Amino acid sequence: MLKHNLGYPRIGIQRELKKACEAYWSKKIDSSALFEVGKRIREENWKIQEEADLDLIPCNDFSFYDHVLDMSLLLGVISESYFSIPMIHNNIDLYFSMARGFQKNGWDIKAMEMTKWFNTNYHYIVPEFDKNQKFSIFSNKIFDELEESKNILKSIKKIKPVLIGPISYLFLGKEKEKSFHRMDLVENLVPIYINIIQKLKDEGVHWIQLDEPILVLDMSEKEKKVFKYAYGEISKFCYGINILLTSYFDGMSENISLFQDISVQALHIDLVEDPNQLEKILSFFSKESKMILSLGLINGRNIWKNNYANSIQKIEKSIKLIGEDRIMIAPNCSLLHVPIDIESENSIHIDIKNRMAFAKQKIDELNDLEKIIKGNKNILLNNSSLLKKSSYIFYDKKIQEKATKITEKDIQRNNNFHIRQKKQNRKFHLPLFPTTTIGSFPQTKEIRSFRNKFRNKELSQEKYDEKIKHFIIDVIKKQEEIDLDVLVHGEFERTDMVEYFSDKLKGILSTENGWVQSYGSRCVKPPILYGDVSRIGDMTVEWICFAQSQTKKLMKGMLTGPVTILQWSFVRDDQPISHTAYQIAWAIREEVLSLEKSGIQIIQIDEPALREGLPLKKKYWKSYFDWSIKAFRLSSSGVKDETQIHTHMCYSEFNDIFEHIADMDADVITMESSRSKMELLEAFSVFSYPNEIGPGVYDIHSPRIPTVEEILDLIEKASKKISIKNIWVNPDCGLKTRKWKEVLISLHNMTKAAKMARLKL
Ligand code: GLN
Ligand code: ZN
Repeated sequence: MLKHNLGYPRIGIQRELKKACEAYWSKKIDSSALFEVGKRIREENWKIQEEADLDLIPCNDFSFYDHVLDMSLLLGVISESYFSIPMIHNNIDLYFSMARGFQKNGWDIKAMEMTKWFNTNYHYIVPEFDKNQKFSIFSNKIFDELEESKNILKSIKKIKPVLIGPISYLFLGKEKEKSFHRMDLVENLVPIYINIIQKLKDEGVHWIQLDEPILVLDMSEKEKKVFKYAYGEISKFCYGINILLTSYFDGMSENISLFQDISVQALHIDLVEDPNQLEKILSFFSKESKMILSLGLINGRNIWKNNYANSIQKIEKSIKLIGEDRIMIAPNCSLLHVPIDIESENSIHIDIKNRMAFAKQKIDELNDLEKIIKGNKNILLNNSSLLKKSSYIFYDKKIQEKATKITEKDIQRNNNFHIRQKKQNRKFHLPLFPTTTIGSFPQTKEIRSFRNKFRNKELSQEKYDEKIKHFIIDVIKKQEEIDLDVLVHGEFERTDMVEYFSDKLKGILSTENGWVQSYGSRCVKPPILYGDVSRIGDMTVEWICFAQSQTKKLMKGMLTGPVTILQWSFVRDDQPISHTAYQIAWAIREEVLSLEKSGIQIIQIDEPALREGLPLKKKYWKSYFDWSIKAFRLSSSGVKDETQIHTHMCYSEFNDIFEHIADMDADVITMESSRSKMELLEAFSVFSYPNEIGPGVYDIHSPRIPTVEEILDLIEKASKKISIKNIWVNPDCGLKTRKWKEVLISLHNMTKAAKMARLKL
């Protein structure tokens, strides 16, 4: 029973890689200093995994920016535009210019597109294919790292180079032009994979890992066909080396039948996301194949200790049916998605910390499982009693009961939208096309430094409050000058829209060092939702009320919604996720009611993460929406008819989830849509969405300033699809990352366009 790992975090325990990359980009260090940092991280990672006695240790899981971009470089999938930059002389600069764009000496080449890695918070660089895309071995990274690992690890037998498999790689990319399908490139691509695999074999490698997460999606017939073709070819030409195919992030479902026709040496399955698939897969394995089954048992996407009894049960069942020498054990996916070492946390309560495992600890858990299988029952007993132990820190009976007792009334506003709209109109007297913003205003260096000083206790509470108030007064003055209709307080007191709330809620904690790579050098520190969640006191009321006291205009209260708080955190795994969502929802609801009681009449509950939480397979969407929409409604439905609830989402793909968005029943929904030129409103008009909508009228991701005419044009487009009494005018998203100069002119143009629209339409 081999123990192996699919991938280890590569950012470094002190985020060394982030710091080194950023120093290199700003020319503070040279490439050899950067390479040195990479080398040290790889070395450290290999040593940790060797000490943990893994039988197979990943190599080429390291990346300076993104492992999908590494694949593009390996396979020579590089657009001409990057090659043509004369100032670029080496691969690393070529690589970074693809990732980040290149702007210098009159050259202005855009970065490649980035998008989410399945349903995780990691983002990858999307490969771009030409119709006649040629593939070749372009970069030597995998071979160099293999050489390096041979010097660190005791035996070449332990080294398992990792690559994204050909079909997932094609799947993750996009066509540059519409005239072909990227899956048709498979015939050009597969020979290069064969080449690479043969080269690795010549270097003495025994095992290689090809990641094929496409195996957990609803694969099309075409994808299945090319999959069979690719692995037919690979197994025909690559003998003398063992290939491990991995599936992760969900179960394989029907796709297991693909393996009736192809044979590789081992198949890895995710038993964390889909424990129920084991039965079916074992019966498939016991009948047909000689393949080895790799059991993905340790959760690579969450930070809780493994439940050994559960894992052992699965291992024993597998041994019984197909024999110990046909079993491997591993985490379900790469450990890229968890922080590195729990030992670098010093302030987490011991009862909680004892239940947690970061990457380093997860590797050791494999060892424990092996020992238990070999007869060490003590480890099993200790683990069971640890996980059973209840603690006052985790649990609160009252909150638990509340989460399971939600009535229809709790998730229903008093009256339907039409009645609410009438009452709200009578009260607010807003003009047609009312203007507003999404919440945050530029977070300048000055603001960040004040927040930091306050956190490091260099600034007293009074002084800090005074500063924030000063920023609020200023942003209100600016909004009044621009003549926006509904104002915001600017969110200056928040570093992050989830962290701000998780720091104030009971049952959630922040780590000191729990960094996880989000993209490139960007890391996030997800909060840890460890216990029953409740609201201790007001979280935003004081700031919002202060802001309202400074203006006669309407001030919008600003909250993060329950689904987003949950999606961007590590969530407890000892109760259904819906219960956790409802607990957060109750807490947000209390805050909403407190704002209302204090005289705030418009409250926005942001849910930018609602769509990204969607399960990978369509068949699970319904149950996801059942609890997520219910949680949102629970947080928003306690208010009077006259109180206007807004929500905000940052994306424009709504067509397939439209009815659920409507089901949220927010009085106003604002969302991104300028880049799609209001196309997304199609669905809203087809289904005659009843409530009010603020389709973003300009792109906040770019420093470009929109003209009055183009905004007016978008408003006109929108008014052809939606009744004009329901349209709001606002930017695509918050303005946190923009410069003040851009923001002032852009918003000015926006209010001007809205005023023109009122006269014209
Ligand atoms: N209110 C938040 C802001 O303006 C919303 C951010 C988001 O949608 N991601 O920053
Ligand atoms: Zn947004």
